[in-house]
Amino acid sequence: VSQIECVDLTKSYQGDGVETTAVHKLNLCFKKEEFTAVIGPSGSGKSTLLSMLGTLDRPTSGHLLYDGKAIGTKGNRLVADFRFEQVGFVFQQFHLLPTLSVLENVLTPLFGRKVSYDRQTRAKEVLNYVGLSDKLTALPSQLSGGQQQRVAIARAVIHKPSWLLADEPTGNLDSEAGERIFSLLRHLHKEDGCGVVFVTHESQLAERAGRIISMQDGCVISDRVGKLK
Ligand code: ADP
Ligand code: ADP
Repeated sequence: VSQIECVDLTKSYQGDGVETTAVHKLNLCFKKEEFTAVIGPSGSGKSTLLSMLGTLDRPTSGHLLYDGKAIGTKGNRLVADFRFEQVGFVFQQFHLLPTLSVLENVLTPLFGRKVSYDRQTRAKEVLNYVGLSDKLTALPSQLSGGQQQRVAIARAVIHKPSWLLADEPTGNLDSEAGERIFSLLRHLHKEDGCGVVFVTHESQLAERAGRIISMQDGCVISDRVGKLK
C-alpha cells in the first residue's frame, strides 16, 4: 500500500457517561514517500490516529482507504492479514517479551505465519541492520533502553511491512540513543522505501521530518513541510 487516506476519520470514547472525541473528522492522506511526524500536546489524539492508521483500532465514524480501498469488510482475519503484510509498529515502551531472547522477540511476528524466506536468516539480518548481531541470546533486561528499542525496530520490520508506525519512539531514550533510533527510521525510509509516520511531542525532532502534522484536540491545526534533507 502506498497511501493511506483518512476520510472524516473520527474516534470517540465513552466513559462514565462522558464522551471524549480523540480524533475529530480528519481528512488527510499519508504517502509512503513522505517521512511524516505527527506532533501535538498530550491528549491531542496522536496515538489514536496512529492506531487507526495501522488498523489496531477502528474508527467510530468515517473511514480509512488503503490505496483507495477499504479493508476489514470480510472479518477480522482479513484485517490481521493486512496488518501483517503492511504495518510494523514501534512504541515508546518497547513492549518486548521479558522472558524471550532478543532473537526470539524479533521472531514473534512470524509465529503462525507462512513466509517465503528463512526466519532465522531474516531475523539475524534485521538484527544486524540495527547493530545488535552480538546480542542474539541476550534478554531484554540485559540491554540498555536504546538497544531495546532497536530490538523493537527489528521486530517491527522482520515481516517487511510497507509502513512503519512509531509512537514516541525516542520518548524514553537519552538524546544519543534517540538519535540512533531516528537515523534508523530515516534509513528504513530512504533505503528500504518504508513509509514512516512517527508521533512525537518533541518539536525539534518533528522539524527534521519531511512533513509535519500538528494536532490539537483531535483536529489537525497545521500540515506543513519539514526540514528533511
Ligand atoms: P495523544 O497520543 O496525543 O496523547 P491520545 O490519542 O492518546 O492522545 O488520546 C486522545 C484523547 O482520547 C485523550 O483525551 C485520551 O484521554 C482519550 N483516550 C485515548 N484512549 C482512550 C481509551 N482507550 N479510552 C478512553 N479515552 C481514551
Ligand atoms: P463485516 O461487515 O464483515 O463484519 P467489518 O467491517 O464490521 O466487517 O469488520 C470485521 C472485523 O474486522 C471487525 O470485527 C473489526 O474488529 C475488524 N476491522 C474492520 N476494519 C478495521 C479497521 N480499520 N481497523 C481495525 N479493525 C478493523
